[in-house]
Amino acid sequence: MGDPQEWNRTWITAPVMSGDRGDTSNVTDTPDAPDFSGLLETLAPQFGERFSTADADRTRHATDVSHHGPSPPQAVCWPVTTREVVTIVDACRQHRVPLVPFGTGTAVEGGVVAVTGGLCLDTSRMDRIVAVHPRDMDATVQAGVTREQLNRHLAELSSAVFFPVDPGADASLGGMAATSASGTNAVRYGTMRDRVLSVEAVMADGSVVRTAGRARKTVAGYDLTALLVGSEGTLGVITEVTLRLAAVPRAISSAVCGFETIEAAVEAVIDCLVAGIPLARMELLDEVQIEAVNRYSGLDNALQPTVFFEFHGSDSAVVEQSEAVGRITTGHGGTDFRWATDEAERNRLWQARHDGYYATLGLREGSTGYVTDVCVPVTALAEAIARTRHELIGCSVPSPIFGHVGDGNFHVVFPIRPGDAAELAEVQAISDRIAEHALDLGGTTTGEHGIGLGKRHLLEREHGAGVEVMRSIKQALDPLGILNPGKVL
Ligand SMILES: Cc1cc2nc3c(=O)[nH]c(=O)nc-3n(C[C@H](O)[C@H](O)[C@H](O)COP(=O)(O)OP(=O)(O)OC[C@H]3O[C@@H](n4cnc5c(N)ncnc54)[C@H](O)[C@@H]3O)c2cc1C
Repeated sequence: MGDPQEWNRTWITAPVMSGDRGDTSNVTDTPDAPDFSGLLETLAPQFGERFSTADADRTRHATDVSHHGPSPPQAVCWPVTTREVVTIVDACRQHRVPLVPFGTGTAVEGGVVAVTGGLCLDTSRMDRIVAVHPRDMDATVQAGVTREQLNRHLAELSSAVFFPVDPGADASLGGMAATSASGTNAVRYGTMRDRVLSVEAVMADGSVVRTAGRARKTVAGYDLTALLVGSEGTLGVITEVTLRLAAVPRAISSAVCGFETIEAAVEAVIDCLVAGIPLARMELLDEVQIEAVNRYSGLDNALQPTVFFEFHGSDSAVVEQSEAVGRITTGHGGTDFRWATDEAERNRLWQARHDGYYATLGLREGSTGYVTDVCVPVTALAEAIARTRHELIGCSVPSPIFGHVGDGNFHVVFPIRPGDAAELAEVQAISDRIAEHALDLGGTTTGEHGIGLGKRHLLEREHGAGVEVMRSIKQALDPLGILNPGKVL
């Protein structure tokens, strides 16, 4: 196939282009917006300054970081307690007004876009850490607490525990539960599905449900935690989350290694996994992404597919793990293997990975990210990436690839010009074909970002008759369809 990404590099030196994010200064209701007067009369006096119809607030809540929308809610409300969430849900049900939960708006599939207007319920003031049990290694937080806030709190307590799921953005834990987020260290610590012990949620009928206690395991009845985690605000408003914490590693080391080909990089990764090396992070950047970050962050990484590793453990364990990975990568033709335990040096090694998303947007000034998110069994990863690279030949938008390679999850980030319908149609068609390949290889259309608005048309292809079961669940739990309508199904 030669080098299908070769043409893509021409983008790196092309002049940056400008675009706009879409004009949201004159906020207008969507044509489908419901009559809002009853809800306004009910909630505005109760919530005072925590209820807003101001254009700036509506605009701020009209979309997430994706290309979806913007479509503003008719008002935004900031509850602080579960009781207040019940009041809001009851009012929305009574007045038949859609309700869109909002965490920090960092998601990438348009889940917070108010496609049919309605009320946005912003959880950012539900920011109380309810309880921490360091010796049980769990914590309960209100939905609006962000992961960094929780980790700062745990560090201040001098507890030897931290919350490991890291989606890159400082997202709310309620939003992370709602999207079942994961990120760079899922290969060791799992995803939100693995880390959420229970949630408290307000259901569409106004009832408050706590899905489980703090026990590490339970088989008591249907698994409502699993149902609500990843439900993207369509089945209930999550008000509290109880999380499994992890022990702070005594030592951390990081390593970086370049490879001739993506195939060699993936084979090395598989050998590391099969060898039982407890890797904490394992991230792949293709050469286009490497060139983008070199340019964006002034780095000089060799222009080749590169894997970033991180090891957690005791002082001796991280050295042992780094050396073992060094031997495996050498066996696959890995070059320029560098590793470090010193924090500053580690950060320097990982900077290229951390800057990846913004480096891609930096390729085109004013662009917004269109992100694909397929995940396949790890042994199918090389094939999935090869097919993806083939699909990218001739694409008119730069298209670097990076991925959480230890999980078989990878992304193409297209920095598209907002408002350019032809460009959007082009990357959407490519994205659909990449998703088809992933499904053919036994994978999924979304490993971590969710269905939101952007992947609904793929759900049937992925789940077949299972989609009808999902519709029945939605119908049973939210018969009036007030919770985040237009998403997932
Ligand atoms: C630079 C960058 C890197 C990222 N990397 C990753 C990554 O590696 N892995 C990953 O998984 N994600 C990643 N993301 C995406 C994003 O951070 C996650 O999807 C995150 O979980 C969203 O949380 P949020 O609080 O911003 O939710 P929002 O964007 O506010 O909402 C997301 C969805 O959840 C619903 N929701 C929010 N709060 C609640 C609630 N309390 N109850 C019910 N529903 C709710 C919303 O209605 C919406 O459907 C990245 C984002 C950025 C900007």
